[in-house]
Amino acid sequence: MIRKCETIMLDLTLDHATVVEHDKKQLHPLHHPKQHQDPLVVERAEGVWLYTTDGRKVLDGMAGLWNVNIGYGNQELPEVAAEQMRKLAFTSNFVGMTTPPSAELAYRMAGMAHPTLNTTFFTSGGSESNDTAFKTARYYWRRLGKPEKVKIISRQGAYHGITVAATAATGIPRYHTMFGPLTPGFSHIPAPNPYRYTGDIQPHETVGQAAARALEEEILRQGPETVAAFIAEPIQGVGGVIVPPDDYFPLVRAICDKYEVLLIVDEVICGFGRTGLWFGQHHWELRPDIMSFAKGVTSGYLQLGGIQISDAIREVIDAAPPEEAWMHGYTYSGHAAACAVALKNLEILEREGLVENSRVMGERLKGGLSKLLDFNIVGDVRGRGLLCGVEIVKDKTTREPDLAKALEIYNLCLARGLRTRNVGNVLAFSPPLSITAEEVDLIVDILGGVIDSVSE
Ligand code: PLP
Repeated sequence: MIRKCETIMLDLTLDHATVVEHDKKQLHPLHHPKQHQDPLVVERAEGVWLYTTDGRKVLDGMAGLWNVNIGYGNQELPEVAAEQMRKLAFTSNFVGMTTPPSAELAYRMAGMAHPTLNTTFFTSGGSESNDTAFKTARYYWRRLGKPEKVKIISRQGAYHGITVAATAATGIPRYHTMFGPLTPGFSHIPAPNPYRYTGDIQPHETVGQAAARALEEEILRQGPETVAAFIAEPIQGVGGVIVPPDDYFPLVRAICDKYEVLLIVDEVICGFGRTGLWFGQHHWELRPDIMSFAKGVTSGYLQLGGIQISDAIREVIDAAPPEEAWMHGYTYSGHAAACAVALKNLEILEREGLVENSRVMGERLKGGLSKLLDFNIVGDVRGRGLLCGVEIVKDKTTREPDLAKALEIYNLCLARGLRTRNVGNVLAFSPPLSITAEEVDLIVDILGGVIDSVSE
């Protein structure tokens, strides 16, 4: 029976029990019924704090999904969104049309991450951005008369999104298991994880050198004439907050140049201040050929992502005859309201010094978390800026990962009013960049108390 239209109305004042009941009609990301018996029903939020319909107040140590960079409850962005939506919420941004917000955002972002990245294409999120990056890399080589250069190399533990190609690039097996066959042409090499490097390492090598050598060997194994691009997050987020050693990315850049492989830098988490600099790549003065971004560009107030391409790639796209045009674009590419919100968001990040706050508060957070290394189950503490990870192990000497304990700690933290995220056996911290010193200390206190309570 078709539901009558008069039963559909806007009512956002539902009580907790009603929301939980109605929510049963929703399939959530990573849905698993057992994990959804008692959802956190978030009604409003302010700064770093979430407020739920059953009266709880939770410090969001994850800034949503690593993205609410300016913090919750900002009142300027809704004003900008409303003003833009009253004028023009959306129209086509396909070639031959544009809008002032999308043009202005592309203009402001030109050269922001790297002087050679002056062209932006907009998407609605990180997965779309990475799919766009893969297609653009293939397009580039095809236009240059090398159509066999199609393969993409990525890393174990990488998370690049959830569309079919982005899932193929993702290096976390659980995302693959039930969905194959995925897009062919993707392979994974070990990540430069200083705490537990999984590749082979020679006695004279650093982890950074060994992991870079793994890239070179993979390019040679696949055949350089078949490899289009290598994709890497500056710091792996979902894979367990893996901070590469300083010698890694300079070697990677040189290897990519040597074999004519494009370097795609995935700044979806790291971009817009998360790691204490504007972009993660800035820690190593890395030059991407393509950079993907999303999340922090709007601090999550509206959906937006995109890629930036090098001037060399732009030239190749511009030189194409009509029959070889770059036939790619989403309905919501350059969404006017989302781009207006992004412009204001970038203004706020700059005006309020939030990138610097990320650096300073990040040092404080890492310093506090490092004190937990006294516990035998805390194997490693790492991070840059406000992107930190605490690795939970069964025993410090064996370094055996303890996923069950990490999950237990995650649940106990939530019960005490702190939201973290257990990515494997690592507890991730990625709070809003507007966080205060007291709030950073509270994260450390709550986590420390919980770890103390579960340590033997
Ligand atoms: N790339 C990275 C590094 C991410 O962490 C994510 C999401 O967490 C994505 C891409 C995918 O972004 P989205 O979920 O917006 O599609």
